[in-house]
Amino acid sequence: MAEAPSPRAALARARRIVVKVGSKSLARDGGSGESVWLRLARDLHAVAVGGGGRRSERQVVLVSSGAIALGMDRLGMKRRPKDMAALQAAAATGQGLLMQRWSEAFGALGLPVAQVLLTHGDLASRTRANNAKGALDELLGLGVVPIINENDAVAVDEIKFGDNDELASMVTPLCGADLLVLLSDVEGLLDEAGVRVPLVRDVGREARHLATDATSGLGRGGMHSKLEAVRRATLAGAHAVIASAAEPAVLPRLLAGEDLGTLFCARERRISSRKHWIAFTLRPRGAALLDVGAADAIVHSGRSVLTVGVVGVRGNFVGGDAIGLYTLDGVEIGRGLARLSAADAARLAGGHGAALPADRASAQPHAAGADRGEVLVHRDDLVLFDEA
Ligand code: GLU
Repeated sequence: MAEAPSPRAALARARRIVVKVGSKSLARDGGSGESVWLRLARDLHAVAVGGGGRRSERQVVLVSSGAIALGMDRLGMKRRPKDMAALQAAAATGQGLLMQRWSEAFGALGLPVAQVLLTHGDLASRTRANNAKGALDELLGLGVVPIINENDAVAVDEIKFGDNDELASMVTPLCGADLLVLLSDVEGLLDEAGVRVPLVRDVGREARHLATDATSGLGRGGMHSKLEAVRRATLAGAHAVIASAAEPAVLPRLLAGEDLGTLFCARERRISSRKHWIAFTLRPRGAALLDVGAADAIVHSGRSVLTVGVVGVRGNFVGGDAIGLYTLDGVEIGRGLARLSAADAARLAGGHGAALPADRASAQPHAAGADRGEVLVHRDDLVLFDEA
């Protein structure tokens, strides 16, 4: 009987790859031999260009941290500053240095690089996210390596990504990548005995309990944030790998199917990029508490959320905002885009209040269904967390 193909073999078929490298890995510039920048650039070059110098079918996007670390160094800051303005100053100082390093490393191999700085607010706006997607597609088509980082100088809490693992997990569906590689200072996900786990098919079920959250003074994301990034990428239909940046030729070896790091398999039932955006990129502006019947109708019958099944609302959302959907015992079962404001939803909750006047109803963001005035979240705009 023919053996089932190893899940590792799928990596060889990856066509668009997002590689994220953390500050700690870049800071570890041993001093002897090739710099970590050149070594990783060589890896990415090998993957994108191949041995014969002809461009392969593969394209790579690099998400690189390190701006704050390089800026701290240049400004003589001994410890990572706590206040936002000092962090922004360090990041702004370091970002140019970061690009200089990458530009030199990739330049030595004949590959041009481009700086793309994003904030969470950019990706939460469909228009700006599409603009970024267009720019990335164009750069990749031109054979340029886009190097993405958070635009730290303008990113205050409200519009910030949690960290660059999260940024990389959002860039993966944005550019339609089929593989996300998180390069870190650990060899992969480790089990309770400290042994590397080679393969995880379901992050939620098999891996969550293994996350320990130690981070250093330089980087931000620990294993917890890596696993969340991996979960989001695999739900978008991409495979994901956590591996050590210190491993020689880590990328070409991974793509050759070598058993390195931890491979997380793409989910077979991927969620659409729009639903992914609703569930993971948008930040909920409020919440609706659903009665048992309404929760059951959305989970088991694929229905929309009607105000008649809403027990209460929280927050100050308006039509078009993302909201969390909660059961009576406080479990968030999904997220969706509200078609009513919090005030209207509260007034109509439980079937109370008069239906919205036609002029108000048609002012809701999506005309279909809104004329009835009682659809709080339409099923087309709703993502359930059991699918996620
Ligand atoms: N954007 C930050 C930097 O470049 C790093 C964020 C992170 O490491 O997650 O320094």
